[in-house]
Amino acid sequence: MKAAPAVQRRLLDLAEVDTELDRVAHRRRNLPELAEIAEAEQVLRAKRDAVVAAETTLGDLNRDVKRLETEIDQVRARSDRDRKLLDDGVPTKQAENLNHELETLKRRQGVLEDESLELMERREAVEQDVIFAKGELATAEEKLSDAQSRRDQAFADLETTEARSGDRRKTVLTELPTELVTLYERIRANKGTGAALLRARRCGACRLELDRTAISDLRTAAADEIARCEECGAILVRTPESGL
Ligand SMILES: [Zn+2]
Repeated sequence: MKAAPAVQRRLLDLAEVDTELDRVAHRRRNLPELAEIAEAEQVLRAKRDAVVAAETTLGDLNRDVKRLETEIDQVRARSDRDRKLLDDGVPTKQAENLNHELETLKRRQGVLEDESLELMERREAVEQDVIFAKGELATAEEKLSDAQSRRDQAFADLETTEARSGDRRKTVLTELPTELVTLYERIRANKGTGAALLRARRCGACRLELDRTAISDLRTAAADEIARCEECGAILVRTPESGL
């Protein structure tokens, strides 16, 4: 295949645009924000679980406190009733029984009130746990949304670069013969790089130095001859920098 040296040099512009597009695609897949987001989501799940656990404990304690309060109210009501009966006047035997029951109820009330006090102290501590867990959750949510907005910004920037490179690629393609582009695309699909500058006897794609035979072949080849790297297959574009 043949192409004028100026056309061959234009291939280098195409290769440069394609390298940029590859870089964009690679960056999009390997954005550090993606790993950061995955980690932040994991932390967020753990913090959410911690809030649920603390709230469940608080709910259980509230229920226990309520149950205890009901029990205390019942004991009080029973005591009130007994005292009222005593005030109203009852036979001696019954009065003895009632006084005995009042003693028992008083002890019971004391025990229940101690228990209730203890429960309320625990509840206070758990309420603090809930507040703390919610704070941690809010921080985790903030970190995630911060990473997400940085990811979105990075994606938007990459899209801008991609669009610009895409436009430039179209322009370059209009200046290249279809046959040459087809060859370039085939090499690029197989090897990653379709064309490269031969600089100081090194292939710009695989970076290997060409051997004597290849150099002497290139020296004698016509300027419009399409040369290929024997190592990587890339189209080698010759310029005064090539060291021939
Ligand atoms: Zn090469």
